[in-house]
Amino acid sequence: MTKLLPKIKIHPVFWLVIAAGTLTGHLWGTVMAFVIVLIHELGHALTARLFGWNVLEIELLPFGGVAKIDERETHPFYQECLVLIAGPLQNVWLPLLSYALLNFPFWGMNEHNLFFMQNNALLLFNLLPIWPLDGGRLTHVLMEMVYPYKLAYRRALCFSAIALGLFGVISLLLYPFSINSWIIFSFILVAIYKEWRVIPLRFIRFLLALSSGKQRFVRLKKLSVPGEMLLTEVFAMYYKNADHRLRIIGEPKSELDGIGLVRDYFKGDCEAATIRECL
Ligand SMILES: [Zn+2]
Repeated sequence: MTKLLPKIKIHPVFWLVIAAGTLTGHLWGTVMAFVIVLIHELGHALTARLFGWNVLEIELLPFGGVAKIDERETHPFYQECLVLIAGPLQNVWLPLLSYALLNFPFWGMNEHNLFFMQNNALLLFNLLPIWPLDGGRLTHVLMEMVYPYKLAYRRALCFSAIALGLFGVISLLLYPFSINSWIIFSFILVAIYKEWRVIPLRFIRFLLALSSGKQRFVRLKKLSVPGEMLLTEVFAMYYKNADHRLRIIGEPKSELDGIGLVRDYFKGDCEAATIRECL
C-alpha cells in the first residue's frame, strides 16, 4: 500500500483556506473541498503509478493539486494525457457518490448541494488552459506534440499568462471583492513566473533524458539546419519523445545523428561551436 500511495503534502495556502474555513464556521465545506481535491489527486497519482511512473509526492492546493513526478523520467504522450485526465475524471463520478450518501442521515440536501457545487467548480476551474492547472498542463503536452520542447514550454506558459489575464479581468468584473479569486490569481501568476525561470534547467534535463539511451522514441524528426548554426541553437529545435536526424542545408550528404550529437556534447567529445564543425 505504501508503494501504491505517494506521500501527501498540503500547500501552505491550503492550510490558510482550512483555517479560514474553520474560523468562519465553514468547517464542513472545507472538509468536503479537502476530500474532493484528495480524490482528484489520487486519480492522477494512481494512474501514473499504473504506468510505472515514479510519483514523488502529492501536493494539495486549494483548487486542485500537483502530483510531483520524477522529472528525470520522460513518458509517452498518451500516458501523460491519461494521467492528466484521470484527475478531472474523478470529479465526474463524485456527484454520484453524493447522491448515494443522501440515503444516510448525516447527508442532507444542503450537504449534497454544497458538495455538488464545490466539485463542479473544481472540475471546471481545473480544466482552464492555465498552468499549473490540469487544462494548462494538457495544453502544454499538446504543444509538445507540435512544437520543439523549448518553444512548446514557452508558448504554453505565454498562453497560460494570457488566459490568466482574461480570468483576472472576468473575476474583476464579476467578483471584484472575492479574496479567494485573488489568492488563486496571485498563486497561479507566481507559479507561471517560477516555471518560466526554470525552463533552461528543464531543457538541460530534457536533453540528458534524450541522450540517456533509456527512451523508446515514438517519432523521427528530420531537421535541416544552416551550417553556421550554434549547437545550442540546434538543440533548441529538438522535440520531445523523438529521434532526430540532422542535415546541413546545401550539403546533401551531411546526415548527422541528432541524439549522438547531444551525447558527444555532454561527454565533452564535441568541442565545436557550430553544427558544420561536427561533420
Ligand atoms: Zn488535477
